[in-house]
Amino acid sequence: MNWAPRVKPIKIRRLYRYARLGIYDDTLLHDVGWELYARCLDIAAVADVYRGGRVPCPKCSTKVARRIDPLFSSGEGGTHEHWFRCPHCTERLLWRDCRQALRNVPRCFDCRAVLHKEVMFRCACGKTWSPEAYKQSLRTRVLLPCPHCFDLVRRPEPPVQTVRHRQRSPELHCPKCQGFALHQHGNIECTVCGYKRRWRDYRKSLKKKDEKLECPNCQYTFRWQAWRKSTRSLRTGNPRPAREFVKKWLRCRTPQQRMIQIDALLQTLHGRGPLAPLFIDSGVHKIRQMLDDLAS
Ligand SMILES: [Zn+2]
Ligand SMILES: [Zn+2]
Ligand SMILES: [Zn+2]
Ligand SMILES: [Zn+2]
Ligand SMILES: [Zn+2]
Repeated sequence: MNWAPRVKPIKIRRLYRYARLGIYDDTLLHDVGWELYARCLDIAAVADVYRGGRVPCPKCSTKVARRIDPLFSSGEGGTHEHWFRCPHCTERLLWRDCRQALRNVPRCFDCRAVLHKEVMFRCACGKTWSPEAYKQSLRTRVLLPCPHCFDLVRRPEPPVQTVRHRQRSPELHCPKCQGFALHQHGNIECTVCGYKRRWRDYRKSLKKKDEKLECPNCQYTFRWQAWRKSTRSLRTGNPRPAREFVKKWLRCRTPQQRMIQIDALLQTLHGRGPLAPLFIDSGVHKIRQMLDDLAS
């Protein structure tokens, strides 16, 4: 895979030095911005693979589906969650994304208008929440607005999942004899050879398992583990800042807007130590130091 390189810190420093003097060097802004953009695209693409289980072909970028069911993997954030569809706009959703969208942009639980953030969160319809009460409510509510259409969606039921999974994916095969196997009693149990293993261990071994992938478009073949290794510096449990930047960067029309978006991304990175090295080409401590300097 040809992943975009990380941005050189010297360029970022220069950018801020100029900005402090009120100079917006648009060539430099474009340079840094598009480098960050390419990097963000890659981070988002890698995150998508971990969610959707479709790997971009290294040659032609066609998405190649993995045979190992990605819905079992812990995916982003590390919690086991399931996709569901918004009944209104049919967008594919994860409950945690519904929550996260409201943490970013709080909306009224009642009328779903965007709340005014003062000391209290205030809606034009008259409702108010303290930020704490709002946060608390986010965690416990079973109805939240869809992040796409803002119609209410119901939190999917987690406990019956194994049964439903089994029906939806009947193609569970014994790793030993490839015979028909069942997920029952917390095990994978082969109906043919009697093979039996704890379900959790079986899933773990699948995650580590290599897989040969063939691109349906250009017939290029590559291996899942090799691909995975190439993404080591692009993997994060929190691809949201990268996704946000991709969206917002494209909307920038002026040098000032470009500086604001670059700064917004770097500010986010500043608040989240482990994210910064994904974007900036330097040691963790040096990046920390630089971001501290820029923020001061
Ligand atoms: Zn599941
Ligand atoms: Zn929707
Ligand atoms: Zn309201
Ligand atoms: Zn078997
Ligand atoms: Zn291809």
